[in-house]
Order: sequence, then C-alpha cells, then structure tokens
Amino acid sequence: MKSLEKIISLFRKFPGVGPKQAERFAMHVLKADLSEIQELSKTLGEVKENIKQCRRCYNFSEQELCSICSNTLRNQTLICVVEQPQDINAIEKAKIFDGVYHVLHGAISPLKGRSFSSIKIKELVERIEISPSGVSEIIIATNPDADGETTAIYLKQLLQKYVPKITRIAYGIPLGGDIDYMDEMTLSYAMRGRTKV
Ligand SMILES: [Zn+2]
Repeated sequence: MKSLEKIISLFRKFPGVGPKQAERFAMHVLKADLSEIQELSKTLGEVKENIKQCRRCYNFSEQELCSICSNTLRNQTLICVVEQPQDINAIEKAKIFDGVYHVLHGAISPLKGRSFSSIKIKELVERIEISPSGVSEIIIATNPDADGETTAIYLKQLLQKYVPKITRIAYGIPLGGDIDYMDEMTLSYAMRGRTKV
C-alpha cells in the first residue's frame, strides 16, 4: 500500500489537514471515478503553470498585471499592504476600498527566523520610488498578531520618508459581539483605535 501512504502524506502537507482528514481525502480518491481524479490532477498542474504573481503587487494573477493593478478606475496612489493574497479577497468582498494592494507573502518573524528580506518589502520600496503619480497613503493591513505588529512597525519606520501618510487598520470588536466576551488584546486595540462619533 505504498502509493496509498504516499497520497496520505501529500494531503497532510495541506494547511489545516490532520492525519484523519488526510486519510478521508485518500479514501475519496480511491472511491471516485478515474475521470474525476484525472481532471483534478490536470487542473492542479494548469493552476501551477498559468497563475503567476502580478509584477506590481505580487497578488496571484494569470496576466502580468493583475485585474486590480490594471484597473484605471482604482486609486493607484493608495496602497494597502497585506500579508497574503487571500487577504485581498477578504477586503475586496467588503467593497470598501478603491485603492490598490501590495502582498508581502508573509510577515517578519524573529522567532521563525524570517527577516525583512524574506518578504516583498524591497519590492514595495522600489514600487513607491518608481510610481509615476507618487503614493499618497500606505495602509498597513498585516495581521493583528506579534509578527504582523513587528512588520507594521518596521514598515512605518522604513516608509515614512517616502510616503506622506502611513496608517494601520483599526482592530475592533466584531459586529454582534459582546464586550464581556472579548479578550484583553482585542479590547485594548479597540480602545486605542477608537474614533470620534
Ligand atoms: Zn497587481
């Protein structure tokens, strides 16, 4: 059963997949029609070959420039910096942002041995420097955890000489949430990020 063990160990490499779930996926492969599995394997290969990173923002894209960077209706002087491409999808769903993005592909993490040079920070500085109409604001939307905060502080110090306005997204209490159920971290950020009403 060598090939069965191999497929289980391959599924285990997927994020959030434990041994039980990997086994369930492998069983599905065994039970499914051959054509279904052949289509899956062909599509996986095509996705890897056709989808590259946008040369400006490093979001995944089938074109050289992604649909957001090439959209002339978007404010190209307003850049929202995120850790991962999927963060863009989340913000786009909210339909509240008309600027463009920059994907770092990670965060600075002293504990995991990831420095500023292992994420797309140099590329961001170059992009700001060559931007034809300049950059009016950088919004730092890295995750509200230790690595995201370290990255945000680093970016603020690095970019303040290039960009007139640098902001950090506010963290708050989720809508429909109860204040007495919030953890201290969320509450303290919500307090600090308070706005005038
Ligand atoms: Zn792009």
